Amino acid sequence: MSRRPFVAGNWKMNKGPNEADALARALKAALANQSAVDVAVAPTYVALPAVTSRLKHSGIHVAAQDIHPSVSGAFTGAIGGEMVRQLGCTYTLVGHSERRSLWNEDDALINSKVHAAFRSGLLPIICIGETLSQRDGNQVEQVLGAQLAKGLEGLEADQVASLTLAYEPVWAIGTGRTASPEQAQDTHQFIRRWLSVNFPDFVSKAVRIQYGGSVKPGNAAALMAKPDVDGALVGGAALQADSFAAIVLAAVP
Ligand code: PEP
Repeated sequence: MSRRPFVAGNWKMNKGPNEADALARALKAALANQSAVDVAVAPTYVALPAVTSRLKHSGIHVAAQDIHPSVSGAFTGAIGGEMVRQLGCTYTLVGHSERRSLWNEDDALINSKVHAAFRSGLLPIICIGETLSQRDGNQVEQVLGAQLAKGLEGLEADQVASLTLAYEPVWAIGTGRTASPEQAQDTHQFIRRWLSVNFPDFVSKAVRIQYGGSVKPGNAAALMAKPDVDGALVGGAALQADSFAAIVLAAVP
């Protein structure tokens, strides 16, 4: 089964509404002629209205960077999935390593956000990954297995088949240090095998697994050429239209 490549850009806490609109406009122009790759961008919440409106009918999807597990309520400063869906988001990131480390998000909270995403009609992009000391301690499979088991708890097979996993080794995020294509493939293969053991066959064949961690135009093609690497989640290089567009075009089969 061939999976459609999927490249997403995480703009993190960069680009307010005006700059985000300019970047969205440039991306829309740069990617106007490609339809072989699914593309999404994740601006800050305050830029969502500008970006969703700019990218309407462009084929480029918009993602939230995070959602709260509840629909609404007394949660000062938080944003619910239904709210971003109303703005035109189709995806949400969940469990990015910065949320895990800076906001102390654990797998149980991440799991509740994944369920909230589905309840709101959003498709989650769930980030998983090990730290450097966990990799050096040969704990990669144990760490990822636990993140998957807890993060996907209680989901229907159809829901799992429709979501995206982003394998983002923490040591490669924003560091300029990338997993080699072989390291990425080995780990993605482990993730897909884990899915095949824990869910019906069609699930592991359908789930798209993005690689994330210092993906740039120069390394994107080699990473995404690997059979289990179905695309990329891009941070720094997603902040310029030309570099993000080059990564998207590197994903064209
Ligand atoms: C990220 O934060 O999801 C990421 C992959 O960042 P970068 O590409 O900058 O390493």
